[in-house]
Amino acid sequence: MTILSFAELAEKCKAQNKAIYEIAQDEEACLSGDSIDVIRLRVLEDLLAMKQAVKNGLKSTEKAISGWCGDDCVKLPERFKKRAALFGKTFEKITTYALATAEENLRMGRIAACPTAGSCGIVPSVIIAVAEEENISEAEQINGLLTAGIVGLLVSNKVQLAGAVAGCQAECGVASAMAAAALTQMLGGDTNEIIQAAALAMKNILGLTCDPVCGLVEVPCIKRNAFLAVHAVTAAELALCGVESKIPLDEVVDTLKITGQLMSPLLKETSQGGLAKTKTALALEEVLFKK
Ligand code: SF4
Repeated sequence: MTILSFAELAEKCKAQNKAIYEIAQDEEACLSGDSIDVIRLRVLEDLLAMKQAVKNGLKSTEKAISGWCGDDCVKLPERFKKRAALFGKTFEKITTYALATAEENLRMGRIAACPTAGSCGIVPSVIIAVAEEENISEAEQINGLLTAGIVGLLVSNKVQLAGAVAGCQAECGVASAMAAAALTQMLGGDTNEIIQAAALAMKNILGLTCDPVCGLVEVPCIKRNAFLAVHAVTAAELALCGVESKIPLDEVVDTLKITGQLMSPLLKETSQGGLAKTKTALALEEVLFKK
């Protein structure tokens, strides 16, 4: 990877008069030695895997071994049939698809980690739902996914994308920034707007802890996917209106890293703090381990 920061990415886009997704595919071509066509085909495969995960998740109500989760996504369309969501069809689809994918993950179904398995519902739900509702072409969805990919890659060069290293801000938070960037690309945003969308999304999840109940990627992980998918849309919409983060994205990423370092180990995937140590979580733990 020849680019190490978002500032460099923006400079390269300007110098070469290219979009972020074009730089992403150029970089991938350089690293892999594959042609752009081959790279785009691989991204299409990922996109199709994401769509299949949504389909599978929508069909299933099978619960995880814990017995706690797995049947929430089917509740949403039932409700929306009776009363449309306040934010309309796109909101309905994003939240439903995010839960469908995250529930598929807990059943050990096939998902695309994006950037991690715990946060696998955020990027796909935003890309797929908006593409369906806005009639966005497959090529443009691939452009969105490439954009999301380079955002995740540049962040991962500085911070390991793992709850155990920097809390959930480094998983669902980064996924939300990736989704915001993808969506901004798909809706016609320029380089600056895409970077601003990612900055706005990331800036507003800093400090998000990782405290999974019983160490399972279920509570709070599954529902968090739906929340942070919608968060990504807010960031993209604001960026497309010209709203900018006063703190540049590179500095927001540095802050995410430092915040992760400052975070207590009790809140970094050890299940020794936060929601994992609530009275209810401890009772669930007792029942689960008796099973
Ligand atoms: S809470 Fe922890 S385990 Fe769950 S998605 Fe976030 S980082 Fe992953």
